[in-house]
Amino acid sequence: MNDCLFCKIVKGEIPSTKIYEDETVYVFEDIAPTAPVHYLVIPKEHISKLDEINETNSAVISHIYEVIAKIAKDKGLKDGFRVVSNCGESAGQSVFHIHFHLLAGRPLTWPAG
Ligand code: 5GP
Ligand code: ZN
Repeated sequence: MNDCLFCKIVKGEIPSTKIYEDETVYVFEDIAPTAPVHYLVIPKEHISKLDEINETNSAVISHIYEVIAKIAKDKGLKDGFRVVSNCGESAGQSVFHIHFHLLAGRPLTWPAG
């Protein structure tokens, strides 16, 4: 867990461009954006991936969605946005600290590949 990239970003040991922060959630710009708006929304506590959510840690996940709705309002994402969380390597997860990609600012095709 000490080697976790996103835990280091939360602690400020690795720099990031902060979009939003509160007691339990941190939001920052993705280093390799795939859309004009590409933020990563993460819990400050270390949860590796979606299938580790359970009744003891799910409160922060519902709070994450409140934060996403607030950011969407504050940033004026009126034309729509997408939230993605890849779970596991074959789904494209490369950083094993749960994160929610918030994508907007261009047409987003569906279904995703
Ligand atoms: P995943 O592939 O796990 O769904 O998403 C991980 C995301 O983290 C990728 O979009 C990648 O660009 C981003 N990322 C990886 N390393 C860093 C970093 O050091 N800083 C920031 N801001 N984003 C990172
Ligand atoms: Zn972590």
